[in-house]
Amino acid sequence: MNNRKGVVINNKTLKKQPKPPQEMWFWSGKSAGVWACGECNRIYQSEVMATECCKSKICKCGADNFSTVYTTCASCRHKQDMAREKDRFDKMDDITDSYDEQPVLAGDSFYKDVWEFFNCCDSLNNLEDEYIEVCSVHKLGYNISVDDVLDTLLDNVTENLEDGYEMEFDGVDVFKKQIQEFLDKQTGEIWVPCGKKINIGELVKQYGECE
Ligand SMILES: [Zn+2]
Ligand SMILES: [Zn+2]
Repeated sequence: MNNRKGVVINNKTLKKQPKPPQEMWFWSGKSAGVWACGECNRIYQSEVMATECCKSKICKCGADNFSTVYTTCASCRHKQDMAREKDRFDKMDDITDSYDEQPVLAGDSFYKDVWEFFNCCDSLNNLEDEYIEVCSVHKLGYNISVDDVLDTLLDNVTENLEDGYEMEFDGVDVFKKQIQEFLDKQTGEIWVPCGKKINIGELVKQYGECE
């Protein structure tokens, strides 16, 4: 037996030299265009990916045996994400002075204003030097026209008519009015990060600590 010892990560055994990948074939003898990892049989769209699947890797920081979907370890990826986020915020203008309670984006989460953000934070300690991004608010449905809705609906209805048949609709005016009433009720909002930041420490000073 050869010496193919490995380390287990996420229930996956990573090896210095995994068994070679297998190309998959149809019964007809035609290639399916996919490869299976020789160790775990996961299917990949390329031979390279199947070869790399169960191979242990070494990150530039020296860490080894991380999932081979990535080329760097989790800790290095986290550092990269943080650096990218810092770079993004460095380029934004600060609007602490004129903040008027718009929605904000903190990390991956949107909040309707800073109060909601404060309430969702376990603690504001250690966040004094961090920033959140302000969002602009757009109304949903403001640019949907009655005629677009009507055309789509009626096209759907007449789609399956056999050739040579026409369909005339009565009461279209009444229907249009109802569609407009429906559209007027669509008051949902879209929040779009607008490239301006607020310093959390400044906000806490301005609004006071919350319980
Ligand atoms: Zn594998
Ligand atoms: Zn690393």
